[in-house]
Amino acid sequence: MIRLYVPHDLKPGAAIGLDPEQSRYLAQVMRLGVGGAVEVFNGRDGAWRAAVASLGKRTVTLGVEALARPQAAGPDVELVVAMVKRGPLETIIEKACELGAARVRLVRTERTVADHARMERLCAIAVEACEQTGRLEVPEIVEPVKLDALLTGWDTGRRLMYCDEAGEAPPALKVLAGEGPWAILIGPEGGFSPAERTRIRSLSFVTAVSLGPRILRADTAAIAALTLWQAQLGDARG
Ligand code: SAM
Repeated sequence: MIRLYVPHDLKPGAAIGLDPEQSRYLAQVMRLGVGGAVEVFNGRDGAWRAAVASLGKRTVTLGVEALARPQAAGPDVELVVAMVKRGPLETIIEKACELGAARVRLVRTERTVADHARMERLCAIAVEACEQTGRLEVPEIVEPVKLDALLTGWDTGRRLMYCDEAGEAPPALKVLAGEGPWAILIGPEGGFSPAERTRIRSLSFVTAVSLGPRILRADTAAIAALTLWQAQLGDARG
């Protein structure tokens, strides 16, 4: 089933004029004709069955038919990731969407080398990943902030799973416990500085964890950490 994320309100009979890129994708790549079936979602109203109503030169219009899946919130787990190089960062965004992150926050740490995030591209990657993976919403990708500012303004009701590669943290599955909102913190290619590590570990809402005996690349660590969290506390528990 072709799935498209649209900003429009979704209700029976609604007409949705797709943007040029989505129109081109349906008409020229997927070669849909009038009546062709699509599933649309907007992050608010659930997933709806729709059909191509008309094929204009630049715009395909869909007619919304019936609710396919009601809106449902996924687990409240955020990913907080240091700015790494473009390739790994794009991988992290895509995998975070597939693994159910509710939001992705980018942070600048003492050792981050990448300074600029191409937000529009990251958001487009998030949309595409959520269309593919069957999600009903697209996580917000939050502009980079300094780690210090993030921690200072942290909502202490949200626990922070601090992935500490330095080797003195317990295995994640031994310490991940407790309902409620969580976030996962992953450092940059060069890891966290000693001062950052001391500060992070001193915070009451932090749970330091090891992801195993090997040093993982930041993108691998993000995938591993989200997988462990979902299996222990999230929607991969079955
Ligand atoms: N400092 C190391 C270095 O330069 O080789 C690697 C840092 S690692 C590439 C980036 C981040 O992934 C770390 O800051 C940590 O958050 C996470 N990470 C990697 N391996 C880990 C492990 N075995 N346990 C916990 N976290 C890990």
